[in-house]
Amino acid sequence: MAGAEIEILLTKAVIDRRVRKLAGKISRDYAGREILIVGVLKGAFIFMADLIRGLSVPCSVDFVRLVSYHDGSVSSGDVRITKDLETPIAGRDVLIVEDIVDTGITLSRLVEVLRERKPASLKVCAFLDKRARRRVPFTADYVGFTIPDGFVVGYGLDYNEKYRFLPDVCLLRDIA
Ligand code: 5GP
Repeated sequence: MAGAEIEILLTKAVIDRRVRKLAGKISRDYAGREILIVGVLKGAFIFMADLIRGLSVPCSVDFVRLVSYHDGSVSSGDVRITKDLETPIAGRDVLIVEDIVDTGITLSRLVEVLRERKPASLKVCAFLDKRARRRVPFTADYVGFTIPDGFVVGYGLDYNEKYRFLPDVCLLRDIA
């Protein structure tokens, strides 16, 4: 980690513009309805905070926290909820807000679990999408940016709990 280098991938200005556009599109799509926004902790908290302040439809918020089990560095596909929603979602218009879709394993499992609770609708908004890394088919309904493979931090995203505070999204190189 001593030699880790950081390079800006998306500046705060670029992010702000895109998040405002996304919020506008979501507001149009949900016109006349109230959204229950489900944020996936911890990485999505800054994106979610910016996104909901751009909405022109009413929303309430709740959070889930998930843990993915790994065999070495490879995800085993076993995803568990370590902090569940506090709100019943049956009959609600639910929008999951996540930081990154990478292999797709976490979100496809979360969608499966939440769908069983019979929401009126269930969609996913992902800030970043690393499409080239998919191991299971998964398409988010709303995507902020599609990015190439590489480990990113900032704007809520961490490496060992560091870098979340950075206003830009940065590529972290040479991590051990
Ligand atoms: P998936 O199940 O799609 O492989 O995993 C998605 C999760 O892995 C994300 O919610 C995020 O927590 C983590 N992740 C994947 N790629 C990155 C990355 O480049 N940077 C950070 N900080 N987390 C990542």
